[in-house]
Amino acid sequence: MSQDIQQKIQNLRAELHQHNFDYYSLDNPTISDFEFDSKLKELQELELKYPEYYDSNSPTLRVGGEITKNFPTVEHQFRMYSLDNSYDFDDLEDWEKRVLKTIEQPVEFVAELKYDGASISILYENGVMKEAVTRGDGFRGDEITANVKTISDIPMQLYGDFPPRFFMRGEIHLTRKNFDKINERREEEGLDLFMNPRNTASGSLKMQDSAEVRKRKLSAVLYQYISTETPAKTHWELLQKAKSWGFRISEQTKLCKTLEEVKEFITFWETERHQLGFDIDGIVIKVNDLAQQQQLGYTAKSPRWAMSYKFKAEKVETELQTVTYQVGRTGAITPVANLKPVLLAGTVVKRASLHNEDIIKKLDLHEHDFVYVEKGGEIIPKIVGINLDKRLPNSQEIEYIKNCPECGTELIKLEDQAIHFCPNDLHCPPQVVGRMIHYVSRKALNIEGLGAETIEQLYREKLVENPADFYILTKEQLLPLERMAEKSAQNIIDGVEKSKEIPFEKVLFGIGIKHVGETVAKKLAKNFESIDDLKKATKEELVQVEDIGGKIAESIVDFFQNEESLLMIERLKSYGVQLEKGENTTELLSNSLENKTFLFTGKLSLFTRDSAEEMVENHGGKNISAVSKNLNYLVVGEKAGSKLKKAQEIGTIEILDEQQFLDLIAE
Ligand code: AMP
Ligand code: ZN
Repeated sequence: MSQDIQQKIQNLRAELHQHNFDYYSLDNPTISDFEFDSKLKELQELELKYPEYYDSNSPTLRVGGEITKNFPTVEHQFRMYSLDNSYDFDDLEDWEKRVLKTIEQPVEFVAELKYDGASISILYENGVMKEAVTRGDGFRGDEITANVKTISDIPMQLYGDFPPRFFMRGEIHLTRKNFDKINERREEEGLDLFMNPRNTASGSLKMQDSAEVRKRKLSAVLYQYISTETPAKTHWELLQKAKSWGFRISEQTKLCKTLEEVKEFITFWETERHQLGFDIDGIVIKVNDLAQQQQLGYTAKSPRWAMSYKFKAEKVETELQTVTYQVGRTGAITPVANLKPVLLAGTVVKRASLHNEDIIKKLDLHEHDFVYVEKGGEIIPKIVGINLDKRLPNSQEIEYIKNCPECGTELIKLEDQAIHFCPNDLHCPPQVVGRMIHYVSRKALNIEGLGAETIEQLYREKLVENPADFYILTKEQLLPLERMAEKSAQNIIDGVEKSKEIPFEKVLFGIGIKHVGETVAKKLAKNFESIDDLKKATKEELVQVEDIGGKIAESIVDFFQNEESLLMIERLKSYGVQLEKGENTTELLSNSLENKTFLFTGKLSLFTRDSAEEMVENHGGKNISAVSKNLNYLVVGEKAGSKLKKAQEIGTIEILDEQQFLDLIAE
């Protein structure tokens, strides 16, 4: 029986790896995404039931779920160099001359897109992904293997005649489409938007929860094989081989016999790059022959056999029409330049962000100025200068507004901040709407049918003004709204009803007390039985709670001094929203671990790290993230490494296996 199961697990793993190979190497997927997902799910269930067949290379690791608190630092066996930059064809010709001087023979080039992302070095041993490390400072980087395993473009299992041990290097990036999707989600959830795909990609790689990394839908291309043994004579052949082993290689790479062909490639992509769907910031040109590469060698910073050609950021001139001001959900004011529409980098630009008053002053922006607009990596293009020749003689300086454009309240500016705020958080329309959107968001009351647009409509129709109003909405009020069908109206009513089951800690997060984020809300819920208890707490009492500082405490006290907040709370209570700890709230189960600190390391098999940490908290203990003298217990699973060693060195730390940990709780 157990052998059957083991066989089944192994078959599923092999089949799923093969599917990846078919897709990336043969360009020939043989099963649908749906079939793939259901097989993956089947495997996941089996692995959960039979943890004894754990395999660090299982395709289920694609799904993520592993938590890494600190990424270990790893030395690069082969240094990761930078590239030398060139900005025009003259630079490039100079480089070719230098190359030819050393080589004294004809030289072929490979021209590749310069992907704008984060570089990665991945070690493969016997066809299996062993370790993925960021570039870091070129000498050492962070080991982020669990996160890299979630990226479908990168194979976990190779096929064919791959060498036993080598590194593949490449770039992890994010397509425009997936970047926009992430930002749409963030906008819905009221979170700050990410600036550009590159930063988002590299930031995603450092997230602690690999399941979250998976959700970012990162892409990757591999562009360099590196090892002590090299199974080919040219870079081009290596790329083809890598593809045959299952790597995703850039489709746009071109073998060029002459520098003329390289230039054609550059000219072509300089304009066509906007059609790619992802960002590139130039072209990389490499000497094709590996013996020639070796002959050329390296400078202190970069290979002499490669050169990057950087595209100029595109810049156009257009007229400033007006400056308007947007009020965000937190009351932050953003000045926006409205421009005469102009074509830039393949899109029509009508607006540019001016960020804050200081930037306007620094530009010395006047009414109807002709401005230079540039598109860098940011979502919104920016104004980089002014054509003073075209400034009208009597034009006035742009004067920053003094009052909120939405509610008229005088703006304030906090010390040490460049941004102005509208302080009227209770009545300024975008702030009022923002708070309601926050209340229904996924991590708060999670009311699904109610989106940002619907809330805005409801507010305009004066049907809702604060979250308590959601609970008295009727279908009759909803139906006349634009694009509101019977079914969606019912969904809203049901969603609102269901939100009454959401536990106290999430409600506490949802009601939008300033500075009370998800974690703080959890801490508060742990320390206060009900909203009434919290209301009674003084500032001095609040700062006693772990992680609650003066600023948060003050904001909580302020919240409960406001009549309108109090009324909203009373109303929510009367509708049955959870404003005290109930069965849904995690309660302290015992005090058996009080004042004790814990850390888990190695591969756990009796429970997951998450559930273990929860157990600690439920019994009054505390989880800490590093081995130090403050640690009482280190719980070790299989293959525990440096943490175990360090704990043994310190000597005062008690080392438990998983069963001993369970026994400790039971005591
Ligand atoms: P730089 O950061 O300007 O020194 O450029 C070097 C970086 O370009 C490398 O670290 C890679 O992350 C990135 N890169 C993007 N595409 C390629 C490519 N096709 N070949 C080599 N490097 C690339
Ligand atoms: Zn306002």
